[in-house]
Amino acid sequence: MKDNGFTKKVAIVGTGFVGMSFAYALLCDGACDEMVLIDINREKALGEAMDLNHGLAFAKTNMKIAAGDYGDCADADIVVICAGVSQKPGEDRISLLQRNRAVFESIVAPVLESGFDGIFLVATNPVDIMTRVVHRLSGFPSRKVIGSGTTLDTARLRYLLGEYFTVDPKNVHAYVIGEHGDSEMTPWSQALVGTKPIREILAGQPEKYTAAALDEIAENVTKAAYKIIQAKSATYYGIGLALVRIVKAIFGGENSILTVSVRLDGEYGVHDVFAGVPCILGREGVREVLTLELEKEELTKFRASCNLLDGIWKDSFAEK
Ligand code: NAD
Repeated sequence: MKDNGFTKKVAIVGTGFVGMSFAYALLCDGACDEMVLIDINREKALGEAMDLNHGLAFAKTNMKIAAGDYGDCADADIVVICAGVSQKPGEDRISLLQRNRAVFESIVAPVLESGFDGIFLVATNPVDIMTRVVHRLSGFPSRKVIGSGTTLDTARLRYLLGEYFTVDPKNVHAYVIGEHGDSEMTPWSQALVGTKPIREILAGQPEKYTAAALDEIAENVTKAAYKIIQAKSATYYGIGLALVRIVKAIFGGENSILTVSVRLDGEYGVHDVFAGVPCILGREGVREVLTLELEKEELTKFRASCNLLDGIWKDSFAEK
């Protein structure tokens, strides 16, 4: 990543619901200095850039915003890929795989041809596999290829736990890990409200808080996207904000902990699989993958999620 101290440039590939919710949130937050919008539908990217530029008079910063092409990725710090097809009502994320693979082949090659040497951030589903696809196609070091992973699921979990315990979600420390999808899991042994383990809170107030309610919360997190898609056809605000959070952690060199999708290289006994786990994010991307002290059953469930992702990868890509 360039570090001239002057410009923070983000290129967004895919100006649909997710890409533009992210772009709008970036603008509102003033989280970068320059934003380029790229889409196979150039007309759409142009219109979106015009629309955002018309808000500049009310924005925090004088951001440079334009529709562009892959050549504009040359000096970008982060290329965020939100292009591709999304889920239809009732459809799971894995079923998008083959269609989005073709989309990614048409994106990663020209980004590389531009000379881009920054960080790839992937939001397109199935996000863990699409992140692995970018890693394979780009040949970049794995710490510079990040998926949004379970960042959004973790935010959903913290929100629901905050409601349940009547505590600000910012003071709830709990993670969703594994696949961003049906096999994801919440290790309750690692969940805290403030400084108190959630299980201790349950043990202290069994008449008020129950394990069954926690399981229902975890289930609601996993099913959240299905419900939103049923109701309004797509999900985008939450992921837009999650992507801004990740980008700010990178630009700020924050060393913040977020559950992004990264390549596991022996952590949790898992090798060469991209999955969501808590990571320390800084200026160079993933600074460190954290290894949680999971209980045996939790570890089994987490590994099952990784095995599922690996199986799908091997069925679809390994030999290609
Ligand atoms: P969308 O259909 O609104 O937008 C997709 C955009 O990609 C369109 O503008 C389209 O023109 C563009 N596109 C398609 N093929 C392209 C190509 N070859 N090159 C460049 N651009 C191309 O879809 P959306 O609702 O924005 O969803 C985008 C993706 O994000 C989906 O895969 C969806 O499942 C995923 N998503 C991820 C999360 C997450 O938590 N990671 C959350 C919500 C949605």
